[in-house]
Amino acid sequence: MELTEKKVFQSLPILNEIVSNEMCVGCGACIAQPDMKENIEMKWNTNGFLVPDFGNAKSLPESSLSVCPFNPFPDNAVRTEDELAAIFLSQSPKRYNKIGRYYNMYAGHAEQFRLTSSSGGLGTYITYKLLENHIVDAVFSVTESSEEGKPYTYSIITQKEDVLKGSKTKYFPVSMAEVLKQLSDMEGKVAIAGIPCFIKAVRLHQYYHPEMKDKIAFLIGIICGGMKSRFFSEYLAAKAGANPALFFKPAFRVKDYDSNALNYSYSCEDENAKLYQIKMAKVGDMWGTGFFKNNACDFCDDVAAELADITLGDAWINPYEQDGKGTNVIITRSALADKLLQDGLAMGDLTLDHLTEEQFIQSQQGGYNHRHRGMKYRIALADKNDRVIPPKRYDKEQIPFEFRWVQKMRMKVRTLSIAYWKKERNIWRFDEAMQDPLKKLQRYTALYHKIRRLKNKVQRVAP
Ligand SMILES: Cc1cc2nc3c(=O)[nH]c(=O)nc-3n(C[C@H](O)[C@H](O)[C@H](O)COP(=O)(O)OP(=O)(O)OC[C@H]3O[C@@H](n4cnc5c(N)ncnc54)[C@H](O)[C@@H]3O)c2cc1C
Repeated sequence: MELTEKKVFQSLPILNEIVSNEMCVGCGACIAQPDMKENIEMKWNTNGFLVPDFGNAKSLPESSLSVCPFNPFPDNAVRTEDELAAIFLSQSPKRYNKIGRYYNMYAGHAEQFRLTSSSGGLGTYITYKLLENHIVDAVFSVTESSEEGKPYTYSIITQKEDVLKGSKTKYFPVSMAEVLKQLSDMEGKVAIAGIPCFIKAVRLHQYYHPEMKDKIAFLIGIICGGMKSRFFSEYLAAKAGANPALFFKPAFRVKDYDSNALNYSYSCEDENAKLYQIKMAKVGDMWGTGFFKNNACDFCDDVAAELADITLGDAWINPYEQDGKGTNVIITRSALADKLLQDGLAMGDLTLDHLTEEQFIQSQQGGYNHRHRGMKYRIALADKNDRVIPPKRYDKEQIPFEFRWVQKMRMKVRTLSIAYWKKERNIWRFDEAMQDPLKKLQRYTALYHKIRRLKNKVQRVAP
């Protein structure tokens, strides 16, 4: 790709703007570009997210901006996930609005890894099989970190015996910057696991560096209902009775095998390895409220990790959600991904049911309602504040006033949760301060549901 002087110059101010407008997800692709001259690192910002620290950088390569999943001025050829999917997943035989291109959809689990994983263990199983079958030589996965204040990080797994290090969902900010920086010098092929915006950054990286198409041979997409600030983990540690300034090994999805899948706990340890644990049901709704969420996630419409070879999420539908051992929803988007599943089924490694498109959408209904239906209104609000939002596909839906109130209040609750926890890390004062905004959000949400039910009733009886 030819670099123009103008674009080289522009990358830096635009990326600075993306960071200051809270539109950065911390993937780190921008600072891991092969032609990057500056030594730029990811740093914690005051809101508890990892962002690039451009410091005294004079300029950045054009590709730094081009690979940003929240670049407000993308090239037309890679304008949205749709164009990228047409380039990278053109072989997929089926396509469904809101889900993307695919081969097959399943709900299921991996016998060997289910109990030690967050959902059905497919994330760990696929990592294992990619290494065992020598499809790749390394997998970039999120594992424990030995760095102080950073319990988790992206690292490189090369041995199938090490796959358990990557198991379990970490609702904690991580960045791919350091592993991506090593990519050009690595021998062989790699696979990368990531949430949808990280997967998009990797696809953009492949597009602008075609030699990466073969080198990055497989992408494991992890469905994401919103990236959380590190404050989320601190708050949960305090709720569980630990010191939010000194805790270790946060575990976000401790299963209760005898209960339903939603009834999971958070746990962490103190410096003496004493365990603290709390049921998430006791903490309250941490997802629908937008608590500690990255602002950028309100401007992401890729619910289903549409650019990955395989998409993995939680089967939040009956009968699967009744089983506390955990079940994945799975979408295969490449022939290789589907073969791995069919082979696993034939060998008895996997238990799989076919899912319909409607069932998949139902399993992520809350995500679709918020991210797709509310997008146009949130963009309008962002426009008022002169925020430049990247092109979106689901930005046309007019929503009624009662859902607008919910949207506006969710955005407020998100902002306040971060602002209050930043001010004082004290659960009692935090909960007290959040009480009124949360009550308001609950009232608006109840009203929205009531009006929706009434409208549905009227529609049903109308001639
Ligand atoms: C921030 C976040 C929000 C999520 N929201 C939803 C949601 O709304 N709906 C839903 O259905 N599922 C969601 N998930 C996915 C879900 O929690 C499980 O991770 C997924 O179902 C895979 O489970 P598994 O048992 O197959 O994975 P495991 O076998 O436990 O393996 C975990 C895999 O996830 C990767 N991983 C762990 N943490 C991260 C991270 N922070 N960033 C990138 N990759 C990571 C690991 O590298 C590994 O590949 C979310 C995950 C994250 C990280």
